[in-house]
Amino acid sequence: MREHDNRVIDRFIELASIDGESFNERLVADYIMEEFQKLGIQLSEDDTASKIGGNCGNLYGFAEGQGKYADSEPVLFCAHMDTVAPGNNKKIILNDDGTITSDHTTVLGADDRVGIAGIIEAYTRVTTEGMDHPPIEFLFTVAEEVYGLGSSAFDYSKIRSRIAFAPDCSGEYGVYSSCEPSLISFEVRIKGKASHAGYEPEKGINAIAVAASAISRIKQGWTDDHTTLNIGTIEGGSVTNAVPERCIIKGEIRSDVHEDAYRTMDHVESIFSEDAVRAGAELWIDKKERITVYKIDVNARSGSALDRYKRALEKQGKRAAAKKSFGGSDINSLIKHGMDGLNIYGPMHSIHTTEEYTTVREIISFTELIKNLMTQP
Ligand SMILES: [Zn+2]
Repeated sequence: MREHDNRVIDRFIELASIDGESFNERLVADYIMEEFQKLGIQLSEDDTASKIGGNCGNLYGFAEGQGKYADSEPVLFCAHMDTVAPGNNKKIILNDDGTITSDHTTVLGADDRVGIAGIIEAYTRVTTEGMDHPPIEFLFTVAEEVYGLGSSAFDYSKIRSRIAFAPDCSGEYGVYSSCEPSLISFEVRIKGKASHAGYEPEKGINAIAVAASAISRIKQGWTDDHTTLNIGTIEGGSVTNAVPERCIIKGEIRSDVHEDAYRTMDHVESIFSEDAVRAGAELWIDKKERITVYKIDVNARSGSALDRYKRALEKQGKRAAAKKSFGGSDINSLIKHGMDGLNIYGPMHSIHTTEEYTTVREIISFTELIKNLMTQP
């Protein structure tokens, strides 16, 4: 392998080894800041840590354009620093067959440390080998795995780029997210009335019964061909000999059609309120729009992020492949803030499981791809 190929593999293993579950990205951020400092770029950290209750903010950096592309349109590269759990004390194993895994007691965290490693290494080559490149912006986010909290809290007035790439899409080489949904999370709190379960149950209002009635009337799973609804947690009551006064239900709705996410939320609210009124219980519903849907025009117009992505892939003899995602990522936020963002391929498989893996071969090609994206006007 070439020297820089070895370097990116070492860098990935180093990065993947660092603890950094959501809200605990400090050590990852320190590593990235130090590496950029070596390349002459001072990353700044925003105040997102205090806003979301983490130990680290988002990192932002800017590199002046060089050579014949110095005045070209700037382009932004984004990756998230957090991993899902279990993501602490990872042992990263480079296997003989060229796969890289954890010891299967934790995730590997290729999602998204491989994106970070690729961006740092590609920029290292671009700058140390004196390649012509447009101005480049860097954004490393926190808490992406928690509804993109970090990127949602970022101040986009700093950003100069229109075009953005976030390598955070798992799948075959060249894949990209063509669509990610709107997501609304909700919490329903029901307050009934406590009473003794044996002496005078008729005086109580059973909050769990209200919840059960409402939930049984709400269709879960796919509510139409592009919307899902899930009630994920329920807690209520305290002892078996009292009519339960309280019940708390939490759930989420995702939809490819923004209005339909809200229409489904309205339906949930009306069912709960009907049952609460009927039982004489009090009801509070909090809802929060976590991410906002986007759709990429697959007929990439010239100069768009997708057009650039296709051209960079062509240089490698590869093609772009659209993939509909029902996940959500930092790109939802970037697009919401007016950017032409694209969630592009990152070499990561079986993500969010302890079987997560990547391969040496893919990391090397992927880093070349990022380098191509950085050096093409
Ligand atoms: Zn990710």
